[in-house]
Amino acid sequence: MDRQSMSILIYVFVLLAIFTDHLCEEQFCSANNAEFCKGNEIDRQKGSFYTEAINEKYRKYLVAIEKAEQSYKECNNTKHDCFKDVIVRDLKPFKMKGIGEEMIEAAKTRGTFYQVIDGKLYRERNCMFPARCAGIEHFLLKVIGNLSDMDLIINTRDYPQSSEYFGNAMPIFSFSKTPQYHDIMYPAWAFWEGGPAISLYPRGLGRWDQHRKSLNKASLEIPWEKKKSKAFFRGSRTSSERDNLILLSRNKSHLVDARYTKNQAWKSNEDTLHMAPALEVSLESHCAYKYLFNFRGVAASFRHKHLFLCRSLVFHVGEDWFEFYYHAMKPWIHYIPVSKNADQKELQDLIEFAKNNDNVSKKIAYRGRDFIWNNLKMSDILYFWKQLLKSYAKLLTYKPVLKKIS
Ligand code: UDP
Repeated sequence: MDRQSMSILIYVFVLLAIFTDHLCEEQFCSANNAEFCKGNEIDRQKGSFYTEAINEKYRKYLVAIEKAEQSYKECNNTKHDCFKDVIVRDLKPFKMKGIGEEMIEAAKTRGTFYQVIDGKLYRERNCMFPARCAGIEHFLLKVIGNLSDMDLIINTRDYPQSSEYFGNAMPIFSFSKTPQYHDIMYPAWAFWEGGPAISLYPRGLGRWDQHRKSLNKASLEIPWEKKKSKAFFRGSRTSSERDNLILLSRNKSHLVDARYTKNQAWKSNEDTLHMAPALEVSLESHCAYKYLFNFRGVAASFRHKHLFLCRSLVFHVGEDWFEFYYHAMKPWIHYIPVSKNADQKELQDLIEFAKNNDNVSKKIAYRGRDFIWNNLKMSDILYFWKQLLKSYAKLLTYKPVLKKIS
C-alpha cells in the first residue's frame, strides 16, 4: 500500500471512529454526557442515566412518579391536616340518622363494650385480648378529660366487623379495614402494647415511641449508600399474597432475601411454603436493606409504619387494607405500590427498576420516612383518638347512662 492510500485509510478510520462514538453518545447516556441524550427528559431530571432501552422499560414507573409528584400536596400534621378526612369519611354512614342505643346493643357481640361517663372509663369485665385492651385503654385514659359521655364498641379482633354486605352500618371501632367495611378506624393497640408476640418481642410488638427512636438510630447507622441493594422480607405466612416474593427469593437470591418465619399456628414446613422456617429478624435489622416489603396479613400488618423509619424504600403490596393513617400516604410519593397479584416477573421488574434508578428510590424512601416521622408521633396518635371520639360522641342520639358491669 502506498503512502497516499495509507493516509486515506487512516482518514476513513478516524471518521468511522468519530461517527461510532457519536452513535454511542446517542444510545448510551452516561452521567457526563447526559445533556446529549435525547428523548428522556424524565430520566435526566431524576438523575438516572441508562440505555434508552432500559429507560423505556422503566418509563411507566417514571411517568407514574412524575404524575404523582405533579398532583401531590404535602400535608402538615402540626396543623392536624393529615388524618381529619378519615374521621369524616368513617363517620359518614352515621351522619344522617345518628347513632341510637339500639345500634350499640346490636353491635355488642362484635367487640368490647366501653363507656365514658363523667370523665371516667368503664369496660365490660371480659376482654378477648387483655393486652390489646390495655393498649387501647392507654390512649383512652389520656384523652378522657376532653370527652363527653359515650358508649363505645371497640373490636379487638384483627378483622373488621361491619361489612357492607350485612346491611346497615354498625358503629364498631376497628384498627384496620378494607373499603367494604363500615368500621370506624382507630389507632391500633400496638402503638402501645398488645401487638403480635414473636420471639424478639415476647410481650408483643408495641411501644411505638421506643421503636421510633431505635429505628431512627438504626437508619442513621446505615446510610442509604451502605444499605444492601436487595429486597427484604421476614414474616409468617398470614397471607398467601406473600408467596411470590418468597419464591422469587428462592430463584433470585441476589435480588431478594425473603423468607417465612413461624407463627403460633405453625405445624410443619408446609406452613412455611415447604421450607424450614427462618429465624426472626428485628425491625431495626431490616434497615440494612434498601427495599423493604410490606404485605397485608390477616388484616393490615403492623410492620408497615416501622419499615418507613429505616429510611429504606417501602414496597407496599395491595391496596385493600388500611389503618387510619394509610390514606394520607401516596403511591409513588411515599412508597412503591405493588399489585397483590404481582407475579415473580412483575416483582423482579419493580425491584430492578429501584436498583437502576437509585436517586429516585432514595428520594421516595426519604419522603416516606419523613412522612411517618413527622406525622405519626405519639402526640399525633393521641390527637387522632381525641378528635375521633369527640366527633363520634356528637352523633349519639341518646344520653348514655352507666350500665351494670357484666
Ligand atoms: N416480625 C419481625 N421480624 C420477623 C418476623 C416478624 O419483626 O422476623 C414482626 C413484623 O414486623 C410484624 C409481626 O412481627 O409486625 C408479625 O409478623 P407476621 O408476618 O407473623 O404477621 P403479620 O402481622 O404481618 O400478618
